[in-house]
Amino acid sequence: MPLLPALPFSVTIDQVLLGQGANPAVIRTRRPRLLSAAERALAEGLSLLTPRALYRQLRVEAIHHERIVLEGGYTLSGMLVTRQLAGAESVVVLLCTVGDDIEKQSQHYLESDPLHSLALYGVGSAAAEALSIAACRYFSEQAHREGQMTTIPLSPGLEGWPVGRGQPEIFQILDGAEIGVELLSSGVMRPVKSVSLVLGIGKQFDPSARMCDLCARRESCTFQSHDA
Ligand code: SF4
Repeated sequence: MPLLPALPFSVTIDQVLLGQGANPAVIRTRRPRLLSAAERALAEGLSLLTPRALYRQLRVEAIHHERIVLEGGYTLSGMLVTRQLAGAESVVVLLCTVGDDIEKQSQHYLESDPLHSLALYGVGSAAAEALSIAACRYFSEQAHREGQMTTIPLSPGLEGWPVGRGQPEIFQILDGAEIGVELLSSGVMRPVKSVSLVLGIGKQFDPSARMCDLCARRESCTFQSHDA
C-alpha cells in the first residue's frame, strides 16, 4: 500500500495546549507554569516523533442511501459518509501516526513530573493532528492540480459515523501494520497518537462544510476557532 512521502508539518505551543484540552488564551494569561511545561515538552518531544502516513485512493462505484461502495467491493456506511461524500469520484482512506515513543515518554514522567507528562501527551496529540492536516493538504493540492477538490476530512467518531463502525471500515481497507498501527476491539488505535480519516475527491462539494458542524462536542466545545 502506498506511503506518503515525508511531509513537512510544524507544531505550535498553542496546538500543544489544545492537545492537552487546555485553552491557550487562558493558559497564557493565568497559568505560566503550564505554558513553560508546554515549551519544554515541545523542545523534547519533536525528536520522539516517527511520522508515517499510509493511504489508498479508491474509485467510488456506487452510493446508496446509507452505504458507499468503493472499488474492490469495500464499503463505508452511515449518513455522515453518504451525505458528505455524495458527488465524490474517488475516496482517499488515510491513516497517520507519529509512533508511540512520545506516549512512552509521557508515561515515564506520569508520577515523577505529571505536568511534563501531560505536556508531552499534548505534543503527541498536536503532532498527530498536524500530520493529518499536512496529509489532507497534500491530497487537496493534488486534486486542485487535476481540476478537482476534496471534502473536509471525515473521521470515525463524527456524528453519523460511530467509531465502532467507521474504524473497522477503514482498517479493512488499510493494513495499519504497515506503519505499526493496530486497531483494538474497543475501536482505539495503538499507538494512540494516530489519526484515521477519509477524504472525498470530486468536482463539486459544499465549500462551507466544517468538521465542527459534524462533531458531537460542538455544543460544549470552546475551541472551534482552531483548524477543525
Ligand atoms: S467542535 Fe470542532 S474544535 Fe471542538 S472538538 Fe469538535 S471538531 Fe474539534
